[in-house]
Amino acid sequence: MFLSLVSGSTGNCSVISDGKTVLLSDCGLGVRRLEELLASVGISPLSISAILVTHEHSDHIKGAGIVSKKYGLPVFATEETHLAMQNCGISEENIKCISSDTDFEIGTIGVKAFSIPHDAANPVGYSFFCGNNKLTVATDMGHIDDYILENIKGSIAVILESNHDIEMLKNGRYPYFLKRRILGDFGHLSNTDAAKTAVELLKSGTKYIMLGHISADNNTPKAALLETANLAQQNGIVAGKDFTLSVANRYIPTNFKASYKE
Ligand SMILES: [Zn+2]
Ligand SMILES: [Zn+2]
Repeated sequence: MFLSLVSGSTGNCSVISDGKTVLLSDCGLGVRRLEELLASVGISPLSISAILVTHEHSDHIKGAGIVSKKYGLPVFATEETHLAMQNCGISEENIKCISSDTDFEIGTIGVKAFSIPHDAANPVGYSFFCGNNKLTVATDMGHIDDYILENIKGSIAVILESNHDIEMLKNGRYPYFLKRRILGDFGHLSNTDAAKTAVELLKSGTKYIMLGHISADNNTPKAALLETANLAQQNGIVAGKDFTLSVANRYIPTNFKASYKE
């Protein structure tokens, strides 16, 4: 099982499970909402083995401390991320420091963290290895380079950031500094960059792409979906036929087979 529970600037959390081990990638929602959403997809919070944190922005760690405490869960993150989230109240024994580019295992799932360009202390994305399947969560990236592409490639399924439509952002109501931050090399990935990345991934054999971290102000699910679907089509790869394309809902769980509805 690989799904998005919530996705966007109001909160991010994904579930990865091979049937034996259950992991959360980020915990950007409160404990009660997490419990509700997990119940709605048939997962007991008691079955979770660990939380993996990508970076310390509140939309990724909001519930991490409380959930860790309530369920006795270890929290994996880089040392710099742990330092930056000291106020979350994660107890000493649950602080697990990891490094990018190093493989490790949690229960039956293999994990590899890779560095991502984002304005946080030492942010990472994660690839998960469940049996023969590689699954990747890649959001909060200012740009894509060969290093990131190499790390995501080979994934059967990817949650890929498609944060904003460049024109909507430029013409929108955000103040100049915020526009610069989002558009910058350490901000968020645009629909255009997501589409280009998706095509590279599809050529490498990825079959399921879920566009995520969609901006509420500077994007629409439809705009994100169309940009990736159109560029894929120009490359002879058809969404719905050659691969499954979905868009992560901001507030409720989305699986990779969910078709987009207006
Ligand atoms: Zn962030
Ligand atoms: Zn974020």
